[in-house]
Amino acid sequence: MADNSLMDRLVSLAKRRGFIFQSSEIYGGVGSVWDYGPLGVELKKNLKERWWRSMVHERDDIEGLDAAILMHPRVWEASGHVAGFTDPMVDCRTCKARFRADQLDQMQCPQKPSKIPGAADQCDLTEPRMFNLMFKTFMGPVEDAAAVVYLRPETAQGIYVNYLNVMQSSRQKVPFGIAQVGKAFRNEITPGNFIFRTREFEQMEMQYFVPPGEDDKWFEEWREKRMQWHVDLGITAAKLRFHEHAPDELAHYAKIAYDIEYEFPFGWQEFEGIHNRTDFDLGRHQEYSGKKLEYMDPVTKDRFIPYIIETSLGADRLALVVLADAYREEEIQGEKRVVLGLNPAVAPIKVGIFPLVKKDGMPEFAQRVHDDLRGRFPTFYDEKGAIGRRYRRQDEAGTPFGITVDGQTLEDQTVTIRHRDSLEQDRVHADQVLSYLDERLVG
Ligand code: ATP
Repeated sequence: MADNSLMDRLVSLAKRRGFIFQSSEIYGGVGSVWDYGPLGVELKKNLKERWWRSMVHERDDIEGLDAAILMHPRVWEASGHVAGFTDPMVDCRTCKARFRADQLDQMQCPQKPSKIPGAADQCDLTEPRMFNLMFKTFMGPVEDAAAVVYLRPETAQGIYVNYLNVMQSSRQKVPFGIAQVGKAFRNEITPGNFIFRTREFEQMEMQYFVPPGEDDKWFEEWREKRMQWHVDLGITAAKLRFHEHAPDELAHYAKIAYDIEYEFPFGWQEFEGIHNRTDFDLGRHQEYSGKKLEYMDPVTKDRFIPYIIETSLGADRLALVVLADAYREEEIQGEKRVVLGLNPAVAPIKVGIFPLVKKDGMPEFAQRVHDDLRGRFPTFYDEKGAIGRRYRRQDEAGTPFGITVDGQTLEDQTVTIRHRDSLEQDRVHADQVLSYLDERLVG
């Protein structure tokens, strides 16, 4: 069941607490582009770092890369994007709304007939027109056809054209992978649902190069690994599922493809794709560039163009999954609270530090605790207003722990540590706070 009001409350919390703002808000905003505020930038960075660690640092067979957004325009001819990265666009002549034809049920305008007073029962859609999703711009001062470049619509191509550079410089052998995190741009016809579908977004992509014939095995392995990664992140398993692409859904390059879907408040939708791209991409780049992209097996001396298994995850969509999955409204002791039950590993702030009252040396003691911890974890010091309100703000920010300095602290140097989810409080000596938190945050 779609719950639009839940989305509204999530968007409102994201703004109130400084996770996500509308781009250029003071000018009325710009269509489906969003900015990450102080807490959002930390959350997204933590997600990207977690992905990078599991892909690059914890494996010997995957290397990192950061390719430029602008590439030679021939790349996008070879990849098939110039000819084929299009969506069918239809307009409704009655209500003037615009849709993607492939997302409409039986070519019916979803706004019709109930929403247009006095309109006929039949909606009046135009024929679908193909619309290329790539953003075009010009390199250099001359705005002519020879100077056209594109903002990349996926990060993958930067990996393919660097496959030889990376393999040779890092002395990898097939099978091996290349991972990259970076911006991508698509001039989407129907963006929306907050940061779910935007025109500028970030992808975390890993391309794994394998011998033909071993592709099915590696595809299975990566499909399972990627699902497990989301479960390990703490996403509710019952809200995750696979969707296998039917033959008519498969991209032109793909032999088999699975989406990982999440049950968002607006329904089940993809947030990661696992694709067997065969030897399509390297084959085409070999053809278009004239440069040999074959691999020679050092033992068997076989020559082949590697097959590619791709895992492609949107950083923004993942952030939305994490926020939606963490959002809770609950009542405790007759009071309503909103909590983000974020996995502590990705929470923007790990510890809030509060003097119970702003006198008797409590702020000074709390500041000292803050100074001890801030080199180790992102912390937040707050002495303003009622303690309950300060807790509530950190609950909304998803901060897993709260340290309070109270009257007893001044007698025996102990502080209370409050747990966001259970609301349990432990009394811990100030000297032990760091190891207490270390154990629970890192361990
Ligand atoms: P859709 O069919 O929803 O347009 P797609 O199948 O074209 O998506 P892919 O090309 O497989 O998507 O992109 C891989 C991942 O990149 C997606 O799972 C998603 O997380 C992310 N992504 C793609 N387009 C967008 C977008 N417009 N906004 C945010 N993230 C996106």
